Amino acid sequence: MSSSIELYRIKKKIEEANNLLIVSHHDPDGDALGSSLGFGLFLDSIGKKTTVYNRDKCPAYLNFIDSSGLINSIENIPNDIDLILLLDLNDFERTGDDMSIYLKKTKLDIIVIDHHQNPKIKTNFSLIETNSSSTGILIYNLISSFGQPIDNLIATLLLTTIVTDTSSFRNSNTNSEALRVAAELITLGGDMQLINSSLMNDRSLNKLRLEKEILLNHEFFTDIKTSISFCTTENYTSTNTTKEESEGVANFLLNHKEVKIGVFIRQISENSWKVSMRTNGFIDLSLLANKFDGGGHKNASGFSFDGNIDNLKKLLRERILYEQQNPTT
Ligand code: 5GP
Ligand code: MN
Repeated sequence: MSSSIELYRIKKKIEEANNLLIVSHHDPDGDALGSSLGFGLFLDSIGKKTTVYNRDKCPAYLNFIDSSGLINSIENIPNDIDLILLLDLNDFERTGDDMSIYLKKTKLDIIVIDHHQNPKIKTNFSLIETNSSSTGILIYNLISSFGQPIDNLIATLLLTTIVTDTSSFRNSNTNSEALRVAAELITLGGDMQLINSSLMNDRSLNKLRLEKEILLNHEFFTDIKTSISFCTTENYTSTNTTKEESEGVANFLLNHKEVKIGVFIRQISENSWKVSMRTNGFIDLSLLANKFDGGGHKNASGFSFDGNIDNLKKLLRERILYEQQNPTT
């Protein structure tokens, strides 16, 4: 079905609803929060009751976003919700355990608006554009179809989705649509200065100390042109930092000319790890992540892994080598 028909069907569905629940992926980034809170504000402005849920709180580096209306517990979800919107995800598991159970049980219609590869949710209402740089761009198109003005708060939230998902217009997903919509959002009052200064001035000395530890854990594998680095819970504790301070490491590794894939592995608990991968078209990382039950985009993907880190690195090396030798077309 063409995306304009999908958009029209979704718009109609939203018009018919009164009490909507918006959900985005856990450990939210600028796209998850910007599109959820931005769309929430828009729905409020057209007289709908809206609840915006995320399993986790707004990370400190996005503190310029007003997330006071965000709820983090499924117990606080009103029981008269009549429509559910899932943004920036296409797998129930990405919402967290509690919400995942809630979604599997619900009889309500579910709308998915997303830009990731390989959707895992079956629904009659989905707007999936893998070429769009952020989910916020799809929300912008949806709001525009209502013919209502977008105020400066919503514009800033939607602009945040583009700035963060393109790493400030530097990633390979930066296309003309992203630049055009960003320009339109700035015209509508989107505060680029606020976003940039907040994102750039988040460095602390503890972050520098953490980066030192992460670099000590760095290895470059010539055969697969891949840089792998990791961070243990001990590294976070000893530098008094959290996972927020290690945002962007995979991208940073990729910034070196010999490196075709940047991999950052973060310890969650003794035998549990979170993997973040970045490339610029070397292999399809969404497929690689799928092999480990994760997902994402061709150039940016991730997954969780239970087991020993040496085993994880070994499996990753084997898989990357295999994908390199047997590229999926
Ligand atoms: P990040 O490395 O920034 O955590 O994630 C990169 C991309 O991969 C994002 O678009 C994110 O949504 C996706 N991603 C990361 N981890 C997972 C995962 O465990 N499962 C799925 N399906 N997608 C993931
Ligand atoms: Mn996104």
